[in-house]
Amino acid sequence: MHLDIKRLMQDADARIVAFHIGMKLFANGRLVESLDISSLSYEAMDSTYWTYCPFHERVQGKKDHHPSNCVVHPKNIMCFAGCGSHNIIEMVCEFCKVPKGRGYEIIAEAMGGVQLYLLDGKAPDYPKLTLKPEEQRALMLSPSNGTPLHLSMYELYSRSKRDYYSLIEDRAKEMLDEYQKLLAYYGSMDAPRASMIYDLMGPQYFDGGIYEELEKELKERIKTCANIVQFFDKKKTA
Ligand SMILES: [Zn+2]
Repeated sequence: MHLDIKRLMQDADARIVAFHIGMKLFANGRLVESLDISSLSYEAMDSTYWTYCPFHERVQGKKDHHPSNCVVHPKNIMCFAGCGSHNIIEMVCEFCKVPKGRGYEIIAEAMGGVQLYLLDGKAPDYPKLTLKPEEQRALMLSPSNGTPLHLSMYELYSRSKRDYYSLIEDRAKEMLDEYQKLLAYYGSMDAPRASMIYDLMGPQYFDGGIYEELEKELKERIKTCANIVQFFDKKKTA
């Protein structure tokens, strides 16, 4: 198997790769729970990503226990506590304890699959617009079987761009409608079906604050769906 290393390393993003190989990433003081190539086309990745330095043990003889020494940038990883800067392949080989050949395969897997980076293969034709994790949740598209959504969506996109955009737009319209109904029925204390929630939960578990939370979450999802409809509609007709 011969990989197009140049093209791969142009596309590769150290943060996506680090997450893929199981390095713990922290952004805004919180553990990052999801990160894949569907995050790439978005500015959602403007946070600083911290991690435990994978080079500490070899360079300094002790493990790094503080995710405040080492930043993962798009193209390199930088340890301020003595290990310095390393590029993506060095990071992968160090963390996974693999030789370079296997390291490049791992990077290709993180970036959407080895088949996209074969030397005589076609350059990957990624959709310009993809869905952020919270958008996938709003559309209830997050797959439960473990297949990363971006891979199945990529397949659909390579078969038909029109179907890809329509599927997302239609789904967003459908869910927008659902959320609006839910908001009208349950979204406040005096909504017509609000008492059902009280009945369902029973008095001992019921908390009046639930309406406020429901309303907030539903409005957030309505906004997300409306944004998706607007952007994807423009994209289809562009
Ligand atoms: Zn270090």
